[in-house]
Amino acid sequence: MPSVYIKTYGCQMNERDSEAVAAQLVAKGYTLAPSEAVADVILLNTCSVRDFAEQKAINKMVNVIADARRARPDVVLGFMGCMAQSRGQELIDRLPDVDLVLGTQKFHRVVDYLDELLAGRREKIVDVAEEQGSEATIREHLLNGNSPKSVTAFVSIMQGCNQYCTFCIVPYTRGEERSRTIPDVVTECRQLVSQGVKEITLLGQIVTSYGKRGFGKIDSLAPRGTSGERVGVRGILENELLTPALSSPGEEREKKSPFVKLLDAVHEIEGLERIRFTSPHPKGYGDDLIEAYARLPKLVEHAHLPVQSGSDRVLKLMHRGYTRARYVGIIEKLRQAKPDIGISTDIIVGFPGETEDDFEQTLSLAREVEFDQAYIFKYSQRRDTPAAEMPDQVPQQIREERNQRLLEVINEIAKRRYSAFVGRQTQLLVEGPSKKNPARMTGRTRCNKIVVFDGSERHRGQLMDVQITRAGSFTLYGDPFVLGEH
Ligand code: SF4
Repeated sequence: MPSVYIKTYGCQMNERDSEAVAAQLVAKGYTLAPSEAVADVILLNTCSVRDFAEQKAINKMVNVIADARRARPDVVLGFMGCMAQSRGQELIDRLPDVDLVLGTQKFHRVVDYLDELLAGRREKIVDVAEEQGSEATIREHLLNGNSPKSVTAFVSIMQGCNQYCTFCIVPYTRGEERSRTIPDVVTECRQLVSQGVKEITLLGQIVTSYGKRGFGKIDSLAPRGTSGERVGVRGILENELLTPALSSPGEEREKKSPFVKLLDAVHEIEGLERIRFTSPHPKGYGDDLIEAYARLPKLVEHAHLPVQSGSDRVLKLMHRGYTRARYVGIIEKLRQAKPDIGISTDIIVGFPGETEDDFEQTLSLAREVEFDQAYIFKYSQRRDTPAAEMPDQVPQQIREERNQRLLEVINEIAKRRYSAFVGRQTQLLVEGPSKKNPARMTGRTRCNKIVVFDGSERHRGQLMDVQITRAGSFTLYGDPFVLGEH
């Protein structure tokens, strides 16, 4: 059978989509090539969030065409994901050697399309149409591959976003919000746990909007009801046999958002040790979600809550839907509920119209909140987004300079917060060998800090207590507290 090499750009959603595509191909007998040099099919899963990411994927394809195509004229080349969705046919017009362009709602079609291309039944395929129910098609996992079993897994719970932040291309590349049903997600999580997974991260562009726009009317992939019929989603929500976690009594049930109901349902899974999620949105971060941290022991003490700016004026221009005070209020409540919670964020510098005063407010927010980690992005103009047309675009040099200044503040705070762990005992879930030094093992604390320690393969998948001995740059070093192994 042909071999496939998939290169992924961008976010965790893309990583997850690539994994599902690879698993679908493996299930049909394809093999996974260790490198593009020996692959029969080369797929680039692309990102559109920044211009740089798009250029990187295009340049990569140009190089692949020059190298792989020359040596192996029959190799099949394809683009998938966000850039494929936004550019479509234009990619083949620009790079005629490309055979396949597959949009963000079409990942599950990849096997059929590759079969057709490899068999010579079709020469080129571009499919970027919308497809009802596509949110429920990212479900296969590659837990084993050729390597030892994974103990962590990502589960896609929804696709798309309706927030339309003025800088963001995602609503155009990923479409409207579409959520999988609770039973569907729980079934996938249960299977993962039965295969040895201990920690699940629920994934979506804006998970706090999960289920808020209802679920698909008819879910062809929905589980069967008690009498064997395919049950509609509304039926599922009312069916206590299928959703035991939703049957908790009266008022409390009414106050919970669909996302918190999903957390409740996943929390019920026996054998699952930890639950994470990314990314929530401050606008939809209700008290029910804050309260869930105090109520659900498997929900770990970490929140990645993108703030983007510390200036209300810029937040409004960005169409974020919250104020600085609202954001800080959420963080305060989270820290009241869980004092040790790790807080990370995303921040954009150099958004159009951002003045020095606005930027100073972002610096002061970073100091006020004291993030454990922050991912800083220099604003990148995305075509067809409102911000790209806004006046007062900030010159590149100023974006660079603000990036540097904010980075210094973030790093200084992180250093202090990481150093505070030295001497403390903390629980890790051991994930596997360290990437930098495979002779050592790494694990993750509940508050999402990476810890490197002297361990062995037998520790993989264990919850383990360690004593932190040293803090490095966004990494901790620990000594196993052997009696603490669970
Ligand atoms: S919430 Fe805003 S930044 Fe996040 S995916 Fe939606 S539009 Fe983009």
